[in-house]
Amino acid sequence: MKIKIVTLGCKLNFAESSALMQRLADEGHTKAKQGEEADIVIVNTCTVTDTADHKDRQAIHRVRRENPNAQIILTGCYAALLQQKKDKGEPLPIADDHILEEINILKPKDLVHFVNAYSRDDRTRCFLKVQDGCNYFCTYCTIPFARGRSRNPYIKDIVAQAEQALSNGAKEIILTGVNIGDFGRSTNETFLDLLKELDRLSAPNYRIRISSCEPNLLSDDIIDFVANSHHFAPHFHIPLQSGSNEVLKIMHRRYTRELFQERVEHIKRVIPNAFIGVDCMVGVRGETDEYFADYVEFISNLPVSQLHVFTYSERANTRMLEMDLYVVPQKERERRSKILHKISEDKLAQFYAQNKGSQATVLWESKKTGNQMSGFTENYIKIYGPYCKEKINTFEHVTINV
Ligand code: SF4
Repeated sequence: MKIKIVTLGCKLNFAESSALMQRLADEGHTKAKQGEEADIVIVNTCTVTDTADHKDRQAIHRVRRENPNAQIILTGCYAALLQQKKDKGEPLPIADDHILEEINILKPKDLVHFVNAYSRDDRTRCFLKVQDGCNYFCTYCTIPFARGRSRNPYIKDIVAQAEQALSNGAKEIILTGVNIGDFGRSTNETFLDLLKELDRLSAPNYRIRISSCEPNLLSDDIIDFVANSHHFAPHFHIPLQSGSNEVLKIMHRRYTRELFQERVEHIKRVIPNAFIGVDCMVGVRGETDEYFADYVEFISNLPVSQLHVFTYSERANTRMLEMDLYVVPQKERERRSKILHKISEDKLAQFYAQNKGSQATVLWESKKTGNQMSGFTENYIKIYGPYCKEKINTFEHVTINV
C-alpha cells in the first residue's frame, strides 16, 4: 500500500510519525511520493490550542481533496480526545464536519506504555523521544488527557537508539518529550543520569540539544553539567508561561517567577553565550491588565534570547474553565501577543548582536536557498554561507558575523 503521513504539532509528533513510517515500511508498505495519491493517509494531529484543532481540520479536508479514494486515519492528541468523547457518547465538537464521519480514529495512543520513536527524515538532525505524558495537569492544558501519565524507557534503550541514529549519519540529536525533566519517574533513574550517558556515545563528533524543560526540574546540577559537557549545546528552552506569580498560581505551575529568574541567571553565569528560548502564554483567564503589565516588566528585564508566544484559547474539560475568573477579550489577547512578539524580536536581535564576532561551530544543513545554505551554531544562531554540497551535515568553525 502507498502510505502518506501528515504531521501537525510538536517535535514529538514528528518523531512518532517517522517511527510509524519506518514500521510500515518494514512491513512492506511504501511512502507515497510528493503529489502522488496514497491508499492510506495518516494524519498525526495536535490539540495544544484552538488554532491547532483548526489546523487539524484544515489538513483533513486537504488530505481528502488530494486523495479522494484513500482511507484516512487520524491519530495523535486531537484524535485521542475525539476518541475519548466518542467512547463517552458525547457529541464531537465538530459534528457538523461531515468529513469526520467517514474517517477512522486510530485507537488513542498507548497512554500507559512507552512507545519508542526517533525521526530519521532529516539527515542532519534527529528528534529522539525520551519521555511521554505528563502528571502536572496545569489548569489550561489538555495534553495529560491526550497523552496519559509521565513515563520513559530505560537509559540503556535510549543510548542504543542514539548510537543507531548517529551511525545512520545524524550529527545532532534533540531530546524530546512532553515533560522531559520528569524523566526517570518510571525507571528510577534521573534526567541527569541520562545526560551523562548521552555525553559519552561512541561517535566522535555530535551534539545534543535538550528541548523544553520545566524550570522547577532544570536544576543547577543539570545546568552545570551542560556547561562542562563535551556534546551538549549551550541552548535551553524553558516554559515560563506567565511572569506574574498570581497567574502562575491560577495556572497551577510549580514555580514562582523568582525561581525562573534564578535559573536564567545561573545559566548566564556559567554559560554566558547560552541561547535561552522561553514559552510565554498570553490572555489566560485571570490575567488582568495589572498582572499583564507585571509580566511584561518581568520578561523585559530577563536576559533571555527569544520568546515563543502562545495565545490562550479555552480548552474543553480543563480546570481553568471551572474557575470564576476575569476573561480576557479576544482582541486584548491579540494585543498582548503582539507586545510579547515585539519584545521577542528585540531580544533576539540583541542576542545576535552580543555574539557578533565570536567563534562558533555551525552544522550545515541540506536546504538550498538560491545559492546559499544555512545551519545553526551550538548556541542556535542561524548562519548562512555559499552553497557547497560537500559541507552538508558537517561541522565548521566560523566567526559569527550576522
Ligand atoms: S507541564 Fe503543564 S503545560 Fe506542560 S504538558 Fe504538562 S500539564 Fe501541559
